[in-house]
Amino acid sequence: MDYPGQFRLDGMVAAVTGAASGIGLEVCRAFGSAGASIVMLDRAADQLAARRDELVGAGLTVAGYACDVTRPAEVNAVAERVEREHGRVDVLVNSAGIAVLHSAADCTDEDWLRVMDVNVNGTFWPSRAFGAGMVRRKSGSIVNLGSMSGIVINRPQHASSYMASKGAIHMLTKALAAEWAKDGVRVNALAPGYVATEMTLKMRERPDLFNTWLDMTPMGRCGEPSEIAAAALFLASPASSYVTGAILSVDGGYTVW
Ligand code: NAD
Repeated sequence: MDYPGQFRLDGMVAAVTGAASGIGLEVCRAFGSAGASIVMLDRAADQLAARRDELVGAGLTVAGYACDVTRPAEVNAVAERVEREHGRVDVLVNSAGIAVLHSAADCTDEDWLRVMDVNVNGTFWPSRAFGAGMVRRKSGSIVNLGSMSGIVINRPQHASSYMASKGAIHMLTKALAAEWAKDGVRVNALAPGYVATEMTLKMRERPDLFNTWLDMTPMGRCGEPSEIAAAALFLASPASSYVTGAILSVDGGYTVW
């Protein structure tokens, strides 16, 4: 067995949502360096174009398509276009996501619906759109960005919408894994702890939150996007060929306590 080769994605096409920032962007770097052609998807069109140019400049094979994952018709159209222009999509990483802090009593209708829309619907629509081609070809791997927030409740901040959305992503992951296992399509999720990205930037600047986070994390630090991308590469690649329906914690030990 060529074990290092099991982690390669040569000849594969990998689509990544939320690709213009943070974990999604680092997943593009990791998968590109492992030999995949990368399809970056994000609603932030300008940022997407800038990051795509950087990755192309670094020698990776990358295309970018503006796509809002909350719009099913748009997601379907982009998926059709990507399949037409790239021939196939072997790997999908659903990394688009948002977080809003709110107490339950003060949560607005808009905030609740927006978090659910981006995180839950925005994981299902691309999975359905790209998963169809994978099922047809009897081959594919989908990696969802769940969270330790879908396993335990975080503190001291309140964010019931985010925690509920991540719990839903974990169950969606298992449901699709069960449905598509015999079709050769694997579906797994990562459950990261706190990661140093744009999403957590403002919160990391607040000592009242940040000190508790570090205290609650056995390893005593945040994760780097590259540490999440490496785990995504495992789940996307043949190295995890017998893994489906898994929720892989990458959280510095946060969920052991
Ligand atoms: P980020 O804010 O750095 O990046 C998120 C990206 O998603 C952005 O580029 C944004 O434009 C894009 N996006 C948002 N809404 C979108 C939409 N409707 N359509 C298309 N793109 C959209 O965040 P991140 O930290 O890289 O988070 C990536 C994923 O990892 C999210 O699902 C997040 O919930 C999850 N996660 C993050 C952490 C963390 O601590 N950063 C921890 C656990 C899980």
